[in-house]
Amino acid sequence: MTTCDVAIVGGGAVGSAIAYFLTRDPHRTGKVVVIERDPTYAMASSSLSASSIRQQFSTPLNIALSRFGIGFLRNATENLSVDGQPVDLSLRENGYLFLATQSGVPVLRANHAIQKAEHCAVELLEPGVLRERFPWLSVEDIALASFGTANEGWFDGPGLLHAFRRKARVQGASYVADEAVGFEKNDERIEAIRTAGGERISAGTVVIAAGCWSGRVARLAATALPVEARRRTVFVLDCREPLPARMPLVIDASGVWARPEGRFYLDPYLWLLIGLLAGAWRRAAAPGAAGQGEAANAGAAPKVAAAPVVVAPGGEAR
Ligand SMILES: Cc1cc2nc3c(=O)[nH]c(=O)nc-3n(C[C@H](O)[C@H](O)[C@H](O)COP(=O)(O)OP(=O)(O)OC[C@H]3O[C@@H](n4cnc5c(N)ncnc54)[C@H](O)[C@@H]3O)c2cc1C
Repeated sequence: MTTCDVAIVGGGAVGSAIAYFLTRDPHRTGKVVVIERDPTYAMASSSLSASSIRQQFSTPLNIALSRFGIGFLRNATENLSVDGQPVDLSLRENGYLFLATQSGVPVLRANHAIQKAEHCAVELLEPGVLRERFPWLSVEDIALASFGTANEGWFDGPGLLHAFRRKARVQGASYVADEAVGFEKNDERIEAIRTAGGERISAGTVVIAAGCWSGRVARLAATALPVEARRRTVFVLDCREPLPARMPLVIDASGVWARPEGRFYLDPYLWLLIGLLAGAWRRAAAPGAAGQGEAANAGAAPKVAAAPVVVAPGGEAR
């Protein structure tokens, strides 16, 4: 039997970050155990993510969280280095470019006001300026765009997960390669976790950090947690005519997006980049501004006129 102060179910980026921060303070005593059923992280969102970070949110809280995040990423070596080894998370700060058709302009302007009040480096671009700044972009039905000029971009997400995990272990956290399959309760209080491997892990506090499986894990403790899996698919594309290296992550008014990844591009629906390269990017439905909230929108289907090469599905997770 294992006894600990904090048991974390799920050792992805979130569970490993919690373990890292709990063990970082040398004055804090107490044993931290992370239960992770798949140390390869083959299906974890943290492995399959587009790993992009932005400041363009619609609430001050999200902006503050993201500002902390970008600072942490910039200082990855200082925060996460083990034995003096540099930590390179390949942070690219190319910015996000949100596009809006006429009906989405009020939302973009309202969000912009919140972002400016929070001192975000964002600017609103009218179609003329947009065309000058991004000549490869078809702007004919764009009424306004919002561009983040700093503190936005993408990074090596799996690299971050493994850096958190490595550092948390060095700081004293233990990882158990097993699956949490049940909880023992005393009245309403969880006292222990049962694992598929037959272990009993008694814990003062249990943290559920099981990503999209968190609702399922909570049900093991007869607790309702409104987290469910949604399918997301990202394609890796190659292009005959490369777009400029400083291309930002572009989010269309329909919600579809694309961004560079090395010499390739990531795109969830194929249509966006195909439309971009054809210079014939159209929105067939769902006009407005792409949400700067948390949820990704379902994509509309722009007309297709040219075909980049699909190299591989990049990430697909539930
Ligand atoms: C295609 C895609 C693109 C994304 N793009 C972005 C983006 O650009 N920017 C952004 O900020 N976010 C993005 N996200 C979201 C981001 O990746 C996730 O929010 C984040 O990785 C979640 O981390 P996590 O640790 O909570 O979950 P996960 O990484 O899924 O980790 C959960 C872990 O829990 C383990 N687990 C589950 N059940 C049990 C159990 N019973 N016992 C033990 N272990 C268990 C799993 O094996 C898994 O390793 C994207 C996600 C996807 C899928």
